[in-house]
Amino acid sequence: MSKKILVSLIAAMALLFVINRVEVMSGEHDKKNVKVSDSSTKKTTTATNVTKPVTKTKENSKETDFLNKVDLSLYELILVNERHAFSDEQLPEETGIIDSNYQVHADLVEPYNEMKKAAEEDGINLRVVSTYRSVSYQQQVYDQSIIDNKNAGMSDEEAKKETAEYVAEPGKSEHHTGLAIDLVDQPWLDAGKGLIPEFYDTKAGKWIDEHCADYGFIIRFPKGKESVTKINYEPWHIRFVGVENAKFIMANHLTLEEFVELVEKTQKEKN
Ligand SMILES: [Zn+2]
Repeated sequence: MSKKILVSLIAAMALLFVINRVEVMSGEHDKKNVKVSDSSTKKTTTATNVTKPVTKTKENSKETDFLNKVDLSLYELILVNERHAFSDEQLPEETGIIDSNYQVHADLVEPYNEMKKAAEEDGINLRVVSTYRSVSYQQQVYDQSIIDNKNAGMSDEEAKKETAEYVAEPGKSEHHTGLAIDLVDQPWLDAGKGLIPEFYDTKAGKWIDEHCADYGFIIRFPKGKESVTKINYEPWHIRFVGVENAKFIMANHLTLEEFVELVEKTQKEKN
């Protein structure tokens, strides 16, 4: 009798054990499934929240601190584009000359000369192609182009359309600010290739891209950001924004438009 009970007990325990195992296994299996789906969806959240919180937060606060200190009212951060026109009255009086006879805003002279010297040490002879252009001069060029087109037999409308395609609209070029430089090197100038994106493939083109931020300049119209700037990639057009801003912009692959927006957003959130 007691033996029978014992056998039944053992059988019952064995059954319980098996059931338990199955549950545990299926439980593990479920967990595994969750983990698998985690890796594609939730993993990033976990990684950001748990694995790298310290560095991430530190970087973020460092970045926020920097952005909060940026002074968008400084002339060197002026935004001139399709939507933000420039007038000659906005031009500060201090000017200077670089590369023998190119007029720029005075703040650029020293950084440019330092950059030119550093490039020379790396065997590159930088040469300026274009700097400051006044809005009124651009207006003259623009108006004359329309007159020439009309003299060539075009209607008013046709003449304006033709001009708009080839001549920058007065007020909308960054060159009006005196903060922009079109820059190539002597061999490129000698080859007479003009201002084309292939300039980036040269030693000088790459050097400018890599080092300009150290002197306060950015590649103003970067590759892949055409939808933001509305201007094609221009590896030769650099724009002075100051060293700290330039380093931040270039390291984060931003355009000046995006940088200004980021600063505005950060400073708005702070207040
Ligand atoms: Zn330019």
